[in-house]
Amino acid sequence: MPFESSSPSSSHQTTYPITFLVVGGGIAGLACALALRRVGHRVTVLERMERSAARGGNGVRVPPNLSKILFHWGLRDVLMSKASITTKLVFMRYESGELLGEHVWDAELLEETQGLFLMLSHSELYDVLYDTATKLGAEVHFNAEVVKVDVPGHSVVLSSGERLSGDVLIGADSEHGQCRTAVLGRRDLGTPTGLAVYDTLIPMAFVSEFDTKVSEESWQFAAFGRGKGVVAYRIRRSEEIALQLYAADVADGGCYEDGPSIDLPCITRDHEISEKLGRAVHGARRATRIPVRQYADLEDWVSDDGRLVLIGEAAHPFPPSTIQGTAMAVEDGAVLAKLFSHLSSEDQIDSFLYAFQEIRQSRVRDVREAELAGIFTITADGPEAAARDASMRAKAAKRINVLEGEGSTESAWEEYGVVFGYNCEDEADEWWVQWGRLRQRALEVHESEPSL
Ligand SMILES: Cc1cc2nc3c(=O)[nH]c(=O)nc-3n(C[C@H](O)[C@H](O)[C@H](O)COP(=O)(O)OP(=O)(O)OC[C@H]3O[C@@H](n4cnc5c(N)ncnc54)[C@H](O)[C@@H]3O)c2cc1C
Repeated sequence: MPFESSSPSSSHQTTYPITFLVVGGGIAGLACALALRRVGHRVTVLERMERSAARGGNGVRVPPNLSKILFHWGLRDVLMSKASITTKLVFMRYESGELLGEHVWDAELLEETQGLFLMLSHSELYDVLYDTATKLGAEVHFNAEVVKVDVPGHSVVLSSGERLSGDVLIGADSEHGQCRTAVLGRRDLGTPTGLAVYDTLIPMAFVSEFDTKVSEESWQFAAFGRGKGVVAYRIRRSEEIALQLYAADVADGGCYEDGPSIDLPCITRDHEISEKLGRAVHGARRATRIPVRQYADLEDWVSDDGRLVLIGEAAHPFPPSTIQGTAMAVEDGAVLAKLFSHLSSEDQIDSFLYAFQEIRQSRVRDVREAELAGIFTITADGPEAAARDASMRAKAAKRINVLEGEGSTESAWEEYGVVFGYNCEDEADEWWVQWGRLRQRALEVHESEPSL
């Protein structure tokens, strides 16, 4: 049996439970709360919105490196009852509908990742994390807006005036939140790329207009245009297609919380899009527009002033609707909890926070760069786009997978394999075995030595 069963695997439990106060009850905050409860810590999550507003209706991709964590946490059955599984990518031209080729996931490689590539709605994933975290004893407060973060005081103030404190503050309030500003010392709006994602859903009835070849259940679909790119996949047991269009931005600001604001055909323009794709786009619900911005890597994810650590978008804003944005948010919580499962005394807390930063920074940097590059690839124009398409056509003509490498070149799928195969919880365990345990022994020896 290659995959974890639905019973959660037993996890190492802390012998020194502490209280974590999590600012932000999005995917990162809830996943972190769930993971910390699994190892025996007390957790309170503060979310400024109502529960119904904090969950999004559009699609989320759950790649194998994420699904393996959720399976490990005992969530396999509940996820499989909601998710579509993808095993194939199909590529086409946006303007003509020409099929460029396809890539079928290599079953052996996929099995080695110990996960599956699942597709869900944001609200489905949100509910699974919320239900599990609260069942395990996490307290989640909605309509609880944090208006002040007092890092040295290990506390926050809510808009109601109430002050709450914890042993460690976790900033999971996204790139726009107060916690990132507190760690960085200033607001960081990032740099516009000129692109936005237009994120929407299409009822399945309109998708019969796609080529039958690309409307098979297990596909993820990408269409390359000049300065525009589409990604689409099935969600809600194939009742709907989640579709994300990357194209030139048309306004300022914008985030998921703003909700749908734009009709997709205003962006796709009928004379620029293939007839079949255009008909599907006309069936789309109004799209939510989120700008694609680039952010410099933060040097510190842990505040100099005290115990505030950033996770998820607050630590590393991803371009919207990527494969790995959600996965990195959940990996953060999984790693933090693994480290804090070894907490046996107060004096370990700071070193665990810095270990978290050390483990996560390089992983997230590499993955984020690749995701941004992916967006530029699907929206490319000119010689770069022509070379990409010619390579795919040539491989498709030879009936080989279009992401396969040729000769000595590494295949894009092999690169995916490395990212998907990563086991973040193993990385945290390895840090403990190599560094944490030794440091703890040294401290114990030091304390047991008679003082002169
Ligand atoms: C309402 C909503 C809908 C979304 N829908 C989708 C989707 O359909 N598809 C997709 O791919 N991605 C969606 N996302 C984005 C996705 O959740 C993130 O990109 C990523 O997966 C992980 O995010 P995060 O938890 O770090 O940040 P976010 O998801 O942005 O969550 C941050 C949370 O912190 C809360 N918060 C901020 N400031 C405060 C404060 N002062 N006090 C208390 N709470 C605060 C916010 O209300 C929010 O719930 C959505 C995000 C939101 C907020």
